[in-house]
Amino acid sequence: MKTEFDYIVIGAGIAGASVAAHLAASHNVLILEMEDRPGYHTTGRSAASYEPNYGPVPMLALTRASADFFKNPPAGFTEAPLFMPRGSLYLAAEGEEAATEYLLAKSEGLDEISELEATELLPILRPGYTKRAFLDKATGDLDVDLLHRGYLRQFKTVGGVLHSNAEVVAITHSAGQWMVDSKLGKFTAPIVINAAGAWGDVIAKMAGVAPVGLVPKRRSIGVVPVVGYDGFEKWPMMMDVADSWYAKPQSGKLIVSSADATPVDPHDAYADDMAIAEGVERLMTATTFEVTHLDHSWGGLRSFVPDGNVVVGFDPSEEGFFWLVGQGGYGIQSAPALSRTAAAMAERKSIPVDVLEAGLKITHIHPERLR
Ligand SMILES: Cc1cc2nc3c(=O)[nH]c(=O)nc-3n(C[C@H](O)[C@H](O)[C@H](O)COP(=O)(O)OP(=O)(O)OC[C@H]3O[C@@H](n4cnc5c(N)ncnc54)[C@H](O)[C@@H]3O)c2cc1C
Repeated sequence: MKTEFDYIVIGAGIAGASVAAHLAASHNVLILEMEDRPGYHTTGRSAASYEPNYGPVPMLALTRASADFFKNPPAGFTEAPLFMPRGSLYLAAEGEEAATEYLLAKSEGLDEISELEATELLPILRPGYTKRAFLDKATGDLDVDLLHRGYLRQFKTVGGVLHSNAEVVAITHSAGQWMVDSKLGKFTAPIVINAAGAWGDVIAKMAGVAPVGLVPKRRSIGVVPVVGYDGFEKWPMMMDVADSWYAKPQSGKLIVSSADATPVDPHDAYADDMAIAEGVERLMTATTFEVTHLDHSWGGLRSFVPDGNVVVGFDPSEEGFFWLVGQGGYGIQSAPALSRTAAAMAERKSIPVDVLEAGLKITHIHPERLR
């Protein structure tokens, strides 16, 4: 078994898979994944949405710079579309003026529409609930599995090595080399990329690197059956301007969330029934939709540092330790631009011009800001 590499990437979620796919084109790259399959944790548990007006400003830049990839993926990357258009309807209820102003200040291309127009798009809208409604036509559903598999295939095609069941248990640094000890064996590389999702600070501490203050936050999604609503598959995603609930059609059902964000330790997450009940209640307050029972539910961890922006770049005090964590609730929709940016930084090359033109400032994502 080959043990010496140029880069060792810890974690085979969307972050690790996508950055590794770029780096493997010209380097020997190893991904170590603790689970028996890549994508088991947060990547496999998202709402699969592309929302270019959702998130803090640096994440918006990375998301907007990813649009072209989703709509026109490179030849051979995927056998089916990655992006399926679905508008998003932002709803502002009584008392949500401040949240509306915040949304409008950072958004591009939102159309304010009347209650009548909103009801034509979303016939279940409860009359009188919505004080202002905004339509985002640039949003859509993403095929996360295809995206993730596309990056892993690209990685393997150019000679990248992925080991599953290879939990990293110890990391040491000497003479310019990181020694990464996993349940599958020991591997060395001058550069380690920490793409361990919710476990990002656990990996840092293991390597003797100061943590960045990453907090995993649980989000729960309930899936409810839809009976007797013709054409519901075409409903837009519906979301509150204050980010207190959202719902959208998915795979013949409706997913609903109270947009919960409960701080927890990294673990194999599960849904919080109370949070789902709150989401259902808010959905039924804003609409006339009747939820009779839950089909199933799931939970996942969205991980954040205090300013809510991703953490990308070499640690300022530990040579060869590269951060790629803190994607929060935007790690799928930003993955194409984020992975190109991260790979360029890990290779000490210049940042892709289109990403800078989309408005990204490196100081907003570099770990140095957190020291
Ligand atoms: C409910 C929910 C809805 C979401 N909706 C959206 C959405 O609509 N759009 C969007 O863009 N984003 C969304 N997100 C966010 C998105 O899913 C994440 O930002 C993204 O998946 C993070 O990817 P990751 O690779 O960093 O993490 P992960 O997928 O968790 O990958 C990290 C990997 O590291 C591995 N690992 C950890 N420790 C070790 C170790 N010691 N050794 C080896 N491997 C290790 C883990 O097993 C895991 O596979 C949502 C998230 C949730 C939970």
